[in-house]
Amino acid sequence: MAELQKKVRVRIAPSPTGDPHVGTAYVGLINYVFARQQGGKFILRIEDTDQSRSRPEYEAAIIESLRWLGLNWDEGPDIGGPYKPYRQSERKEIYQSYAEALLKDDRAYYCFCTPERLAQMRSEKLSRKELAGYDGLCLGLDPEEAKKRRDSGEPAVTRLKIPRPGETVLSDRIRKEIRFDHKNIDDQVLLKSDGLPTYHLANVIDDHLMKITHVIRAEEWITSTPKHLILYQALGWEPPEFIHLPLLRNPDGSKISKRKNPVSLNYYREMGFLPEAMRNFLGLLGWTMPDEREIFSLEEMITNFSFERISPAGPVFDLEKLKWLNGNYIRTLPDQELLRRIQEQVFPEERLKKILPLIRERLELLSQCLDVADFFFLGEVHPDLPDLIPKKKSASEAAAMLSQSQEVLESLVSWESADIEDALRRFCQEKGYQIKELFMTLRVAITGKRATPPVCESMEIVGKAITIARISLAITALKRAPK
Ligand code: GLU
Repeated sequence: MAELQKKVRVRIAPSPTGDPHVGTAYVGLINYVFARQQGGKFILRIEDTDQSRSRPEYEAAIIESLRWLGLNWDEGPDIGGPYKPYRQSERKEIYQSYAEALLKDDRAYYCFCTPERLAQMRSEKLSRKELAGYDGLCLGLDPEEAKKRRDSGEPAVTRLKIPRPGETVLSDRIRKEIRFDHKNIDDQVLLKSDGLPTYHLANVIDDHLMKITHVIRAEEWITSTPKHLILYQALGWEPPEFIHLPLLRNPDGSKISKRKNPVSLNYYREMGFLPEAMRNFLGLLGWTMPDEREIFSLEEMITNFSFERISPAGPVFDLEKLKWLNGNYIRTLPDQELLRRIQEQVFPEERLKKILPLIRERLELLSQCLDVADFFFLGEVHPDLPDLIPKKKSASEAAAMLSQSQEVLESLVSWESADIEDALRRFCQEKGYQIKELFMTLRVAITGKRATPPVCESMEIVGKAITIARISLAITALKRAPK
């Protein structure tokens, strides 16, 4: 299938609000493969307009993990390109000018409703079992009058005027035509009262200005797409083609979630999955080779790829399959290369140097080093269940304490031992847990033992993703414990 008319330009647009997600890698792979097949460009754009949740550390982690996976982009915040900047927080003025144009053309309007009024309106609508969208109170305001109020400093958001009655039709290559009745589409906020754009406005403007030809993204954005199509029309722009990829699922069929599957790309890297196996695995999610072969290289995928072979049914993220694939790749690596990868991944000198001061005091023989330090190098540890349970607590109380502390750890942006310790001490104070109890349970969950080097320093070296995964394993074991 040749996309003859235009030079293909595709993008991924992750928001740096958490650890790099396997879903981003999956969408990234499909975009990358399509771009390479079509001789087009693959672009990385960082959508960091949600200032309260976006962090530069997460952006750096996304970039590093996508590079590890081998998905190299042609334009992006780290390498620049003809449509820079590629970070939305640096493009605010652009969005504001288009919002103003929309207001001028009567395609958008100021809304002065207070958060309290909106909350009340929503709950009233919900109690009448209606859709919770905006009720249009400010739609009738005289635009001149509204502009005056706004200019005099009254807080207002800018909303998209959805033409009603009306209908928007989305034709998506991997699913049937979807029709959206405009009466069910909310008058989307485009610009917030602080002048910052919402995802919808920034996303559409950037896709247009960056000359994106195909928006290939996850299924969860389908409900946003009619708003985007209406925006393109309001701005007088031709929309790109939209292709929505199926959502990845846990083995029980639910949307992939960190409670049931590790979702951080860092986990896969730190556990020792090979990037080539990971790419192969992601490629197999929902897509099949014409000859149904399961093991294929990136080059082979690029040659054979077509959207028609993607099934819209959500593929299961099957860890066992990934391990099987990884084993296959490991077996075919030449000895020298396998050695290099083990050294790089499991025994990097940096890590050994950090471990040394923690174990020195505990050694009488060099040969004991693995006895005291094994957990730094292992993927999983399997502690004895009773060791995980503090004296005066039940298994389920221990599980609850672990899962609350896991949330605290997950939300940490810095993974340095001092920050980990600070956060856990604060957590204990808030929840009334004893620090000693929590640290012992965490120590056992993370190291498998009761006597180890200091637990927060150990966590730092074990790494965030593996720490979180080991806590999950301990929680599962505790939940299965006989009552
Ligand atoms: N910023 C959105 C995300 O985090 C981008 C969605 C899109 O591709 O339009 O996934």
